Amino acid sequence: MKKHNFSAGPCVLPQEVFQKASQALLNFNNMDLSIIEISHRDKNFIAVMDKAQNLALELLGLKDKGYTALFLQGGASMQFLMTAYNLLEKKAIYADTGTWSSKAIKEAKMFGEVDVIASSKDQNYNYIPKGYTIPSDADYFHCTSNNTIFGTQYKEFPEGSIPVVCDMSSDIFSRQLDFSKFDLIYAGAQKNMGPAGATLVIIKEDILGKVTRSIPSMLSYKVHAEKESMFNTPPVFAVYVSMLTLDWLQNLGGIAAIEKINNQKAALLYAEIDRNPLFTGFAAKEDRSTMNATFNLVDDSHKEVFDNLWKEAGINGLNGHRSVGGYRASMYNGLTLESVEVLVDTMKKFENTL
Ligand code: PMP
Repeated sequence: MKKHNFSAGPCVLPQEVFQKASQALLNFNNMDLSIIEISHRDKNFIAVMDKAQNLALELLGLKDKGYTALFLQGGASMQFLMTAYNLLEKKAIYADTGTWSSKAIKEAKMFGEVDVIASSKDQNYNYIPKGYTIPSDADYFHCTSNNTIFGTQYKEFPEGSIPVVCDMSSDIFSRQLDFSKFDLIYAGAQKNMGPAGATLVIIKEDILGKVTRSIPSMLSYKVHAEKESMFNTPPVFAVYVSMLTLDWLQNLGGIAAIEKINNQKAALLYAEIDRNPLFTGFAAKEDRSTMNATFNLVDDSHKEVFDNLWKEAGINGLNGHRSVGGYRASMYNGLTLESVEVLVDTMKKFENTL
């Protein structure tokens, strides 16, 4: 029996994607070869890369709007420095909403002045700071749309006139947004797309070429864009599985369709967190993430009882990050409503057991 996998990433993907991916490992496109043993210059793989890039732009509503989709390596962490390397000439504005934003800030400081305009560090990042306007005298504003560790998510983004760079690693393709408001979006594949190893970067082409420093080829968006993500050997399997997942999403009805399911899953779980007297939610209610729900036990002495119950129910990956403690249920696109129902039933059972 497949486990109910609430892992924060790498995480569950649609079962259909796992099946197709395993088939392609043995025999890809009836070539009698594995997807991971053919050349990345083979027309069969070039078609995969093209389709993955096209699907990404189409699903985000950015096709023919001056954007390029790249599949790069180095994880989202590499983007912390690549964004600054390629875009930061003098000053950049950052919002600090958690561990990943802080890491992005640390890297950007190596390339220029960084102004942290807002931070929720004062309350262990349990909310999204609001009510500020982005100054216009900077190269870009950087934010993290969903804070994987703390379970907070922007519902509205601050207004401004400078380019917006957004780390969407843990909620890309999960909800409808006006993606054309963003000039650069990056996301590690290992949540809503595929296996770790590929990082999707969506760039508005006209923001490139503005910094005066010279940029090493492997760190240059321009180079990767000119070579259509084939400057060097791309992470072929991760790109292939990402393509399968994006195809699955498109067949499902795109972001609008998955958003409905994601909202249903999140509503079900948060309702139980709020109802059940044994649990307390971690994130501020208005900023709660639909992807990562963080919650704690009111009384930690019951931890063993609850942990045994969810493990018996076939649940995996529910432990919270060490900086929050308690529990974190990650409900990415690939997680079914049924898995959330099993978790909610287990929380009810826990209440009845005590
Ligand atoms: N940003 C966010 C929001 C994340 O959740 C993560 C990883 N969980 C990262 C960045 C870092 O990603 P990677 O491990 O791919 O470098």
